[in-house]
This record gives sequence, C-alpha cells and structure tokens, in this order.
Amino acid sequence: MNMRKIKYNKLFKMYPMQLGRRNFLQLFGATSIFSVPFFRNLTKYLINNDPMLTDHVDRETPTHWPDDVIHTIYTEKPYFGLTIDDGWFPDTFVEMLDILKRKKYRANFFLVGAAAIHCEKAYPGILERLVNEGHSIGYHTMRHYALELSTYSSSDYSKDYDEWTELFRYYLGNDLANKALKPYARAPFGSFSDEFLKFCRNRSLVPYAWARDPSEINRDRLIRKGHIFLLHIRPSDLQYLDEFDKYTAEPLHPVKIECMLRNEDCPDITPTSEDNKLFGRHIPY
Ligand SMILES: [Zn+2]
Repeated sequence: MNMRKIKYNKLFKMYPMQLGRRNFLQLFGATSIFSVPFFRNLTKYLINNDPMLTDHVDRETPTHWPDDVIHTIYTEKPYFGLTIDDGWFPDTFVEMLDILKRKKYRANFFLVGAAAIHCEKAYPGILERLVNEGHSIGYHTMRHYALELSTYSSSDYSKDYDEWTELFRYYLGNDLANKALKPYARAPFGSFSDEFLKFCRNRSLVPYAWARDPSEINRDRLIRKGHIFLLHIRPSDLQYLDEFDKYTAEPLHPVKIECMLRNEDCPDITPTSEDNKLFGRHIPY
C-alpha cells in the first residue's frame, strides 16, 4: 500500500469517529481549495462574470420553476413584464384599467373564465374595453379550483382551454378575440404540473410564471429588468400600479410580454442602450 492510500484510509477511519460533520467541513474549508466555500465562490464568480448574464439579471430569482416555464425575458431595454391574474373583483378591475390608461401601461391579463363572466355581468363590455385599451389575455383556466385541477390530465386542460377560448370569443367577437388572445398559459397557483406542461406543448402555448410578486418584494428583492411581475385583480394590489418606482431596482417601465419578445406595442420611451442584440431571448435557469 502506498503512502497516499494509507493517508486516505486513515482519514476516512478517523472522520466519523473523531470529527463531526461541521468540524470536518471547517477543517477542509480552511485548508483545501477543493472546499464547499471554494466551489460556491467559484460558481458565483463565473456567473457574475458571464457576459451573457450581466447585472440586470437577479441572481436571487427563484429557480423552482420547471425548465420550460418562463419567468424572465432577456431585454436590454428598461422593461419588466406586467401580468395581472384572475379577475374576481369587478370594481377593482375597472379601477385597474383606469390606472393603466392614465399611466399608459399595457399588461398581459391571465383571466379566469368564471371571473370574466362575473365581471361582464357587473360591467358589460369590460373585456372589450380591456382589449381596446391595448391589453392582452392569456389562459388561466375556467374555474381555478385547486381540488378540480389537482386531478386534471393534459386532455382535461385541453377541454377547459377550448371552453375558455369559446367564452372570450363570445364576449369579444372573433376580431377582438384574435387580437387579444395570446398563446400564453399560466397555471393557477403556479402549479405547472407535468400534465399542465404537456397540455401547453400539445396546444402550442407558452407557460409563463413570474419572477416577482408582491409577497416577495422587499429591499433586497426588487423587480429587475426582464422580470415578469405578477399582480392580481384585487384591491390590495392597486397600489403597485401607481408606484412601481418603489419596487424596481432601477427606473423600469412595465410592458406586455409581446413588447419584450417582439417589440410589439412598446411604450414610447427612449431605450437606455443603443441596440439589443439578444432581444427577446428567454433566460434559461
Ligand atoms: Zn390565479
């Protein structure tokens, strides 16, 4: 047996008996470059110096979404994606549309079919108004019931999607529906199950999650360039529309996904960078 082998044997015999895990890591952290902190710092260094992933991508953006699900869109322009979900509060819906109009913001609404019916009953023509004011609509199921959805197969989602589409075509008519309905899907509660993702692939829908929502916003976790931000049509979320500056890491403008992806319907503002070679690239995590 050579010296190296003896050393290894000694080490592994001694480790469980004489050193706790913490001591073992401390010992090796301090003496070896192949330590946990070393690799952690190396990874951090490589990511932070990757020219493809410059400052504006937040390292703390959650990575818990499945691979196919989009929560951030690469853009050089000072934009973040504004998405607004559900629709259970008709009065708030009207108030939100008023603020968006006043501020000249356009958003992607992920509407629930049943909630849309509720709003149309309270304010007939509200969906038409939404489309005429430049907003888009994405799929967010007909009913949003957790129990029901937990048993859904991809073909159940597919049927639900057909019902949902028919409903919006009924309220909007074909021309407005063709303009407003986008091939985007958001799973209720962010539950992007395998069945939901299979349904998205079958129906050529892009699953969109979010990088930030109000529950996560604090001093260290602001909205950054390219993030998709999630709001709901509910009274407590109204304040965000009026004071985004408080929640963004730099001056950013809320836009629709179409603007970040294809430069469609972008606000009339001066971009801060001359060009955007990687415009519209999805950030892989
Ligand atoms: Zn929802």
